[in-house]
Amino acid sequence: MALITKAVKGTNDVLPSEVHKNQYIEATCLSVAGNFGYKEMRTPVFEHTELFQRGVGDTTDVVQKEMYTFDDKGGRSITLRPEGTAGAARAFLENGLSNGALPQKICYLTSCYRYEKPQAGRLREFHQFGIECFGASSPLADAEIIALAKQIFDTLGITDLHLEINSIGCPECRAKYHEALKEYFSQYKEQLCNTCQERLERNPMRLLDCKSPEDKAIAENAPEILDYLCDECKEHFESVKKYLGAMNIEFTVNPRIVRGLDYYTKTVFEFIADSIGAQGTVCGGGRYDGLIEELGGQKTPSLGFGMGLERLALVMDAQGCEYPEAEVPDLFIAAIGEKAKLKAVEIAKDMRDEGFSVVYDLNERSVRAQMKYADKLGAKYNIVIGDSEVDENKAVLKNMKNGEQADISLVTFVSEYYSITLKEQLEDIEINGEALDFNSLFGIGE
Ligand code: ATP
Ligand code: MG
Repeated sequence: MALITKAVKGTNDVLPSEVHKNQYIEATCLSVAGNFGYKEMRTPVFEHTELFQRGVGDTTDVVQKEMYTFDDKGGRSITLRPEGTAGAARAFLENGLSNGALPQKICYLTSCYRYEKPQAGRLREFHQFGIECFGASSPLADAEIIALAKQIFDTLGITDLHLEINSIGCPECRAKYHEALKEYFSQYKEQLCNTCQERLERNPMRLLDCKSPEDKAIAENAPEILDYLCDECKEHFESVKKYLGAMNIEFTVNPRIVRGLDYYTKTVFEFIADSIGAQGTVCGGGRYDGLIEELGGQKTPSLGFGMGLERLALVMDAQGCEYPEAEVPDLFIAAIGEKAKLKAVEIAKDMRDEGFSVVYDLNERSVRAQMKYADKLGAKYNIVIGDSEVDENKAVLKNMKNGEQADISLVTFVSEYYSITLKEQLEDIEINGEALDFNSLFGIGE
């Protein structure tokens, strides 16, 4: 069979057999963020291109090389979001959240699009869990978002990660640092890659973030930002470290971390895994006190992080972290004959009303084939209904794992005629003299 086309390079399908893993990771992120007071926000997949040019920065790799930008039919330049912060900041301003109680604590699960060379941990469509805390100037906030990310990793059972932090100062201390960097890199100008030669004048800190091995080697001996911090930035950084210490969060200070986006100030950090190769940064973030003003708002000190969910899953696999088991049907109803099919749909309706997941065959196959199908689905229990079961209103409930059986009445499934609900009936069933444990049987009712 020749398919007319295949998935676009650098994109992934998540199959039904795997999706419970994604759901678990996503639910964990949202739940931990909820415990820190963050509420979910959803913004569009595409935005006006200028939002990212201004909000991410037009000297960044993301804007210079990686964006999916196109003109729509109305001639407007549109870009698929390469990250979540710019869109969240726009929505924060446009919807007047900036006038509400500050800080506004926001989180999101988003797809992101970057035109990069696909490889392990580097995709063209990938997914991020992100948080943004708009309107918080205290170093308490910096420590809190790092603690939030750490709590997600702890909850998922990830241990193979280390935290690196740095401060890249404010516009004041950075002016002096930029001069020092320019002076340093100018000596090697001819050896730098073309992009960095151009960046040297406009944003020399970007050179520290370049992926080219030659430029990386030159950057090794570049001046360090920490030597240029002003008193306020120094004090802020010391406080962040103190609060992290109070929460027993281990970190190393890495003066080379500058982060890929232009808008960062003061604290920046990365959680890095050693087990998944070169693309080891699972989460990166920091403070971006200048962004909201850059987008036309009032000065609003803010901060956040982005966590790459595909990389997170790679670390979990590499480390053998456990996932909860995939959901399977509670009950499979095998039906033979027209009367039985009618009864099956009636029972299924009744049980689904009670919150059970119930499946029957949609292909009118033989009982054998139906049971094979039930097996493949991993159903917990089954009943087989034929003419006699319908006439006598009885069936055998069978545990598909251990083969245990119990007689049940079919009449009582239909609760509108009978006061005994299915739940009560099942609670009364005894197998080998022992009461059936309803909770463990169907995993509900707790
Ligand atoms: P890198 O240095 O690996 O290119 P980045 O600095 O560009 O990362 P951010 O913009 O900070 O990454 O995005 C936050 C997180 O999103 C990263 O730490 C990573 O986990 C994930 N991420 C970024 N780009 C990709 C990608 N192309 N494919 C998969 N995950 C990605
Ligand atoms: Mg990148």
